[in-house]
Amino acid sequence: MPAARVYTKKDAKPAVLKNKTLAVIGYGSQGHAHALNLKDSGYKVIVGLYPKSKSIEVAKKQGFEVMPTAEAVKKADVIMIAAPDMKQAAIYKQDIEPNLSKGKTLLFTHGMSINAGFIKPPADVNIVMVAPKGPGHIVRSQFCEGKGVPALIAVQQGGPKAKAIALAWADGIGATRAGVIETTFKEETETDLFGEQAVLCGGVSALIQAGFETLVEAGYKPEMAYFECCHELKLIVDLINESGISGMRFSISETAKYGDVTRGPRVVTKETKKNMKKILSEIQSGKFTKEWKKEYDNGLKNYKKLLADGEKHQIEKVGQRLRSLMPWVAKKNIKGAQAAYSAK
Ligand code: NAP
Repeated sequence: MPAARVYTKKDAKPAVLKNKTLAVIGYGSQGHAHALNLKDSGYKVIVGLYPKSKSIEVAKKQGFEVMPTAEAVKKADVIMIAAPDMKQAAIYKQDIEPNLSKGKTLLFTHGMSINAGFIKPPADVNIVMVAPKGPGHIVRSQFCEGKGVPALIAVQQGGPKAKAIALAWADGIGATRAGVIETTFKEETETDLFGEQAVLCGGVSALIQAGFETLVEAGYKPEMAYFECCHELKLIVDLINESGISGMRFSISETAKYGDVTRGPRVVTKETKKNMKKILSEIQSGKFTKEWKKEYDNGLKNYKKLLADGEKHQIEKVGQRLRSLMPWVAKKNIKGAQAAYSAK
C-alpha cells in the first residue's frame, strides 16, 4: 500500500469556516477541546447541551453561548456531535434530525454511529469526521502549548466541499500542526476499536496486571512489582513514541535487549495473535458494536461490575501510595481538566 498523504497547514482553507456558525453538541473530553481550540482560532462557536447538563456552567464560564441542542443545530452550519457514542442516535432523532437542512454539515470524532447505521442523515447533508488521535484533554493542552495532536479526516457524504470543511476544522483545533491523514468512517471505526481493545487499553491493562500478579504471587513485594510492571512502562513508551521500538532498544541494556527479543514472543504468542484476529473479526462483523449497544441499553450492569473489579485490584492501592511519594509524577485530576485547560 502506498504511503498515506499527510495534510498540513498549507492544505487547509480556513476561509470555508469563516462567517459560519460551528455548534459543538456536548462539552466533555472532545467537545470542550474542539470548542475552545476553534474559538481561540477565531471561529464563531456555540455549544449545545441538554437542560440539566453539568457542563452548562463550565462552558458558559469559558466564554460560550450555551443553548439546547435543537436550537444550536438550527443556528449552526457545522454541527459536531461530541456526545457519548451510545447516546448519539437518540440525540440525533430527537434534537438534530428535525432541525437539519440542506447544506449543513454533521461532524463526528469517531465513525461508529455512521458505520453501524445508528444514524442515517439525509443525502443533502454533509457527513464528515475529524478524529484527533489523542484524548480531548491532550488536544486542548497541546494546542495551548502551540503544538497539535494529529488527526484523521473522512468524508461519508458531500465530496470535496465537505473535505475542505473537515480540513479547516482539523486546522482550527491544531491538528495540521502535527499532520492530518484521510481515512473512511469504516476504516477509522474498525482500527480505532481494535487498537483500544487489543493494545492501548485492553491489551496494556491486562499485560500490566498479569505481570504484577506474577511477581506478587511469586512472593515479591507489591511495590517492586508496581515499579517493574507499571511505573517504568511510561519511560519505555516515551522512548518508543520518540524513536520507535528499535530506537527504544538502542537505549536499553544488552541484557534487557536479549530478554526483550527472546522472551517477548513467549508472552505475546501465536495464540495471542489468533485472539487478536478474532477480536478484529468481531469488530468487522458488527458483533462487538451489537454487544456493546445491548449492554448499554440494559443498564451497563456487566460494564460497571468489570470496572469496579478493576478498581479493587491490588495494583491500584500500591500505585496510589507510590505515586504520592513521587512529586514529579503529575497528579492531574483529569475530571477537573476542562476547567484547568480553559485559560490559554
Ligand atoms: P464525554 O467526555 O463523555 O462527554 C460527552 C458530553 O456529551 C458531555 O458534556 C455530556 O454532558 C454531553 N451529553 C450527554 N448527553 C447529551 C445530550 N442528550 N445532549 C447533548 N449533550 C449531551 O464524551 P467523549 O469521550 O468526548 O466522546 C465524544 C465523542 O468523541 C465520541 O464519539 C467518542 O468516540 C469520540 N472520541 C473521544 C475521545 C476521547 O478522548 N474521549 C477520543 C477520540 C474520539 P455532561 O457534561 O452533562 O455529562
